[in-house]
Formats: sequence, structure tokens, C-alpha cells
Amino acid sequence: MGNDVRGPGSGVRGPDNRESVLADLREQLLLDQDFGLEFLDPQAVLPTSRGRSHSPEPTPEPPPIIVPARPRTPDPGPRTGGDPPPSPLPASELTSIAAQVAACRACGLCQTRTNTVPGEGNPAAELVFVGEGPGADEDVQGRPFVGAAGELLTAMIQAMGFRREDVYIANVVKCRPPGNRTPESGEVAACLPYLNRQLLAIRPKIIVALGNTPLRALTGDDKLGITAQRGKMLDWRGIPLLPTFHPAYLLRNPPAKKPCWEDLKAVVKFLGRELPKRGG
Ligand code: SF4
Repeated sequence: MGNDVRGPGSGVRGPDNRESVLADLREQLLLDQDFGLEFLDPQAVLPTSRGRSHSPEPTPEPPPIIVPARPRTPDPGPRTGGDPPPSPLPASELTSIAAQVAACRACGLCQTRTNTVPGEGNPAAELVFVGEGPGADEDVQGRPFVGAAGELLTAMIQAMGFRREDVYIANVVKCRPPGNRTPESGEVAACLPYLNRQLLAIRPKIIVALGNTPLRALTGDDKLGITAQRGKMLDWRGIPLLPTFHPAYLLRNPPAKKPCWEDLKAVVKFLGRELPKRGG
């Protein structure tokens, strides 16, 4: 799904394309800086005039992402603003859901999982991210979004002015589909009640759906596609739902970071917050 990889590094590039390739890559690096990924200096790596850097050819592959680890402090903290009151005991409800997920055998994914991945974060979060399902790293650690895509998601959250522990992160299915395949409809149907209960317990101000699977699961419309729906303010039981691209897709398709970042900036604006000043 979504294999529209532009593949700027594939094929033979003539000299006429070199400047445009460099311009594209510089834009990606600047966008990475917006995401807080300041491991490369675009000016140093990509000369604006013709000439070679230390690398014989520009390599449009996304560079390794380095995000400083932050200690997890699951402190619910007080809610602010005039939002609807949260469930009386969202933390205990989330703990209860996690325990039920750990024992769940409602679909075939239980047979191949190492750990269940119920979700984690602030029980009083105003912002919830929903992905598709655990991957290999998540399956091993029992935590959502801890692989390469998770590092990018963490950087995106920080670029929005949040700490990862300020938000809540969950998936549609709580057990890893073998080979990271897309969960089947029966698996989604079996697992979705857990996510629904999590969202009802947290009652965030806004939900961000990352990719097709959470978009379709939360809207109940299997015909929707993320490319057409991203950036639109939809609704989940009275809570705004904004779909955007999954971080794993962004890793495969760096140009998609730009529209995704526009979506996330709209979320920040919706929440009445300001983007943090670009540092360094
Ligand atoms: S994916 Fe969900 S429904 Fe299936 S076994 Fe895991 S927790 Fe249960």
C-alpha cells in the first residue's frame, strides 16, 4: 500500500537533475530539523553551488535518526482548558484494558505475538496518536512506536511542542501481525473495542490517525484512503479526528514529511498552542 516511492536515488540522474536533487534533499533536511532531528547541517552537507561534498553522489535515503532518550514519567497532571471532563478514572481504566489485552486470545494474532502492546502515555492526554499495529521492535518491548518509525514519531511529537509522555500512543491492533502485514478486517474488528475504550477513557481533545488502518477503523469506512483524507478534520464520537501519514510511510517517502508536518501544525493550532521556537 502506498508504494508510490519516488525513488530519487534510483536510476541514472543526469547533470541537469543534480541541482533539483540537491534542493529536494536540502528541503528534507530542513524539515528534519523542524522535527528536531538536527544531526546534519544541510548547508555543510549540501553545497548550493555545483561541487562535490565528501560523498560522491547525494544519497536521498533518510539519514539515521537520532532522538535523545527521555525518561518516561507517566504523570497524568492536571487538565487545562474548558475541555469536557475526562472519565473519572482513566488511568485505572487504561490499566484494566492493558490487563485484558495481555490475556486476550480473541484473534489469531495472539498465536505469534511475543508481547501485547496495549499503548502508553498520559491518561489525561489532550492528544492521542493511533497507529496500525506493533512491529518487530514493539512486539519485543511491549511498547508502541519504539522502532525507527517510533523515533520519527517521537521527533514529530517534540517538534509539536510536546514530550512523548504528554500524549497517548496506541494502535488499532495490540498484537503484531506476522511480517508486519496489514491487519485483516477480522483482526481489526476483534481488537477495536480495546482502542474504543481507551479513547473513551482518555477523551482527548483530538485524535491523530496515522495511516489507512486507523483512519478506516475509527471512521468505519473501509473506502477511505489516507492520501485523500489526510489533513481533513473528521470526527470520532464527537472528538476531532485528523488523519495523516504513518511515520513508516514518511521514512520510505521523505517528501511526504512536508504535508504531514502541515497536518501536525494544524493540530497544534487546533489545540491553541504555539510551536516551539526552532532551536540551534
Ligand atoms: S490483536 Fe487484539 S483481539 Fe487479537 S489477540 Fe491481540 S489483543 Fe486480542
